[in-house]
Amino acid sequence: MTALETIIRALIVSDGPLPLDRFMALCLGHPAHGYYTTRDPFGVKGDFTTAPEISQVFGELIGVWVAHVWESLGQPRHFALVELGPGRGTLMHDALRALSKFPACAKASQVHFVETSEVLRDAQRASVPQATWHAHVASLPALSSIIIANEFFDALPMRQFVRKSGRVFEVMVGLENEALAMMLVPSPFHIPVAGDGVFEDAAARGAVATQLGDHLAKLGGAALVIDYGHLQTALGDTLQALQNHKPCRVLDVPGEADLTSHVDFEALARAFLAGGAKIAGLATQGQFLGAMGLEDRTRVLAHHALGQERDTLIDGAQRLVHPDGMGKLFKVLCVTSPEMAQPFPFGGT
Ligand code: SAH
Repeated sequence: MTALETIIRALIVSDGPLPLDRFMALCLGHPAHGYYTTRDPFGVKGDFTTAPEISQVFGELIGVWVAHVWESLGQPRHFALVELGPGRGTLMHDALRALSKFPACAKASQVHFVETSEVLRDAQRASVPQATWHAHVASLPALSSIIIANEFFDALPMRQFVRKSGRVFEVMVGLENEALAMMLVPSPFHIPVAGDGVFEDAAARGAVATQLGDHLAKLGGAALVIDYGHLQTALGDTLQALQNHKPCRVLDVPGEADLTSHVDFEALARAFLAGGAKIAGLATQGQFLGAMGLEDRTRVLAHHALGQERDTLIDGAQRLVHPDGMGKLFKVLCVTSPEMAQPFPFGGT
């Protein structure tokens, strides 16, 4: 039994079954035994690999996008270049290398990271030493901001509800025959989609998006949210646990496996709007990276590379944009302050 499971069992004995958002928050963020608190989970030896770890071109193209947005904002003398959940800091490291080709923009930027894991903050410090760290978006500076979030929202907790023959239940983690078990508890929750099935409600994601929407509306700027998920609010059980690059059972090893669920982009966009921001566009990752010039940049790099390194560059780029890889499942949502013109490539210009 993991150390965290012992703690969770004691909580259930004292408080009763836990809603999934509480269980997820403990598994991922418990201060001593949480998944992100205790490890660097990325790469071949870890549990999963993210786009910036697959190809340097991912972060570089985001750096070029940042320079473009900064120009559209009227080239502010200072702006916050914010990343939420920066992992190892690889995306920002690559983005800043690309940004160094736009010296005025690079000079105006101040890097701010929102990160709760001390282990990952150490890794980020090694990649981007000049950053300033925050535990919450609430402490971000009062500056015009360009905000990046790659695979951040999927890691924030959510709750699950089930409608069965018209009756609604909440999925909770309880104890059954001395073991952790999922159980259904009758609930007054209103599922906003018709039909029987599982509905996921991520209030924690919405709260962050609304806060960011408010920040952008008041101070100006744009946000780019990249994650796996669906375009429209729908029924479906998307909770997944991952260990050593393989799916495992959600309740098997609390704190030792990554727990995530797909992002409901319609709900997330609504939450940004509620904060006062404008939705500038939504694309698949394949469309976004294609329009930003992924192929050309990869070709240039591959031209200067040899053997294995060359193959890794070409395979990585393919994986990011191919519909059977990350190109279609991953979506890119662009949000701006209300007065800002639609940034490239969402307006198609
Ligand atoms: N963006 C990175 C890492 C994605 S993993 C990449 O693409 O490689 C999720 C990241 O979000 C990790 O850095 C994790 O520590 C961080 N994180 C998870 N929950 C968080 C929270 N509530 N507040 C801030 N950061 C969080």
